[in-house]
Amino acid sequence: MNSDNRAVFLDRDGVLIKDVNYLSRLEDISIYDDVPEGLISLKKNGFKLIMITNQSGVARGFFDESFVYETYNFLNNIFSKSGVSLDDLYFCPHHQQGKPPYNIKCDCRKPAPGMIEKASKKHGIDCQRSFMLGDKKSDVELAYNSGTRGILLRTGKGDSEAASVAELYPEVPILDTFSDAIDFILKNSFD
Ligand SMILES: [Mg+2]
Repeated sequence: MNSDNRAVFLDRDGVLIKDVNYLSRLEDISIYDDVPEGLISLKKNGFKLIMITNQSGVARGFFDESFVYETYNFLNNIFSKSGVSLDDLYFCPHHQQGKPPYNIKCDCRKPAPGMIEKASKKHGIDCQRSFMLGDKKSDVELAYNSGTRGILLRTGKGDSEAASVAELYPEVPILDTFSDAIDFILKNSFD
């Protein structure tokens, strides 16, 4: 084992960028100020950076899959100006009340573990030494279902999710900002 086997799985909306509810225009993207620096620290410490995001707006007909890729590339272009980039993107376009062919009961919509399972297989990730960073209870539950360690941020929807996460999962750290989460990860990780 070496540090290359570790990842931080990153939710998108409410964690890397402000949650605007079904983002469908690049001009509405607003990256949290402390994110580029945090990503650099994680990269320096050997973590792969993998975006894991539910995008049921595809199933609901608000935007198509290509827009999800476009958003990912847009973010990576900005991050690359700071000398860092995300390693991969996994998203779930499904919702059972959505439109065909996306209205299926899938194994990837958080908190189901499908996206992290796929990512771990492809990138050779050791989930026990990795973290999932999110702003919803479903992100924390995804972490449990995938055998990785969850952290809840109070950004995005996190403030309103914090009480139920604290009650159901008292061992999960609930932190104010992205940079707080990065500090926690670096202090609590092992090679
Ligand atoms: Mg989120």
